[in-house]
Amino acid sequence: MQIVKRSEFGWGATGASSAKPTRGLVIHYDGSNQRLENKPHGACVVYWKNTRSFHRGPSRQWVDIGYSFGCCPHGVIFEGRGEGRAQAAQPGGNTTWYSVTLMSGPDETPTEAQIEAVRELRAYLMGKGLGAAVKGHRDFYSTSCPGDRLYRLVRDGTFAKPPKGSKTTPISSEEGDVSAQDVIHGKHIVMNKGEDAEKKVSLAAFLQEIETEQDQTQERLDRIEAKLDSLLVKLDDASK
Ligand SMILES: [Zn+2]
Ligand SMILES: [Zn+2]
Repeated sequence: MQIVKRSEFGWGATGASSAKPTRGLVIHYDGSNQRLENKPHGACVVYWKNTRSFHRGPSRQWVDIGYSFGCCPHGVIFEGRGEGRAQAAQPGGNTTWYSVTLMSGPDETPTEAQIEAVRELRAYLMGKGLGAAVKGHRDFYSTSCPGDRLYRLVRDGTFAKPPKGSKTTPISSEEGDVSAQDVIHGKHIVMNKGEDAEKKVSLAAFLQEIETEQDQTQERLDRIEAKLDSLLVKLDDASK
């Protein structure tokens, strides 16, 4: 597994708050075709730095790049916010799931090396207690992300296979229990009629609501922090 630490991009410690994601991994894409596969790997590094600048800039105003990790077509894992941090990637799951973007757009198919990198990242995080589930951004929020191509691979379990390099037993992508998200999307409701099922559904919806509120509060705090930062810089400049 080849993981490039954020310090190698010249980034300091992330300002994102601590979190302990345990549910699983969420797949993202860029939204526009990047064609990094046909470019030298240096273009991926430039892409990663630009993405952080965009996320910290006026249109997003986040404290850091939005994602936990990225995986480029050359099979390299990039650290974003990294382990143990809240993200700005999938509202409703920013503190409970990890995020990874494939840095690509709707017309791009991930390379073998890139899929292997996602599997390696997942296996690594699972070794630290992360759940086995793999989802797409659109499972949380109405969005095109991660695009139809990547979402098909989410659904067919491609990312949930163990990395080829590993000799461990296959890991299931199914969650042990009914997830709040599944219940809310109605997948399990029909099968579990009755009072218990209803209680389960309302409890799951309640938990989901709390989780979403936590994420929104975190984003608000992040934005306030970013504004304070820029005010402090201005003050500093003014006093010179
Ligand atoms: Zn996304
Ligand atoms: Zn690359």
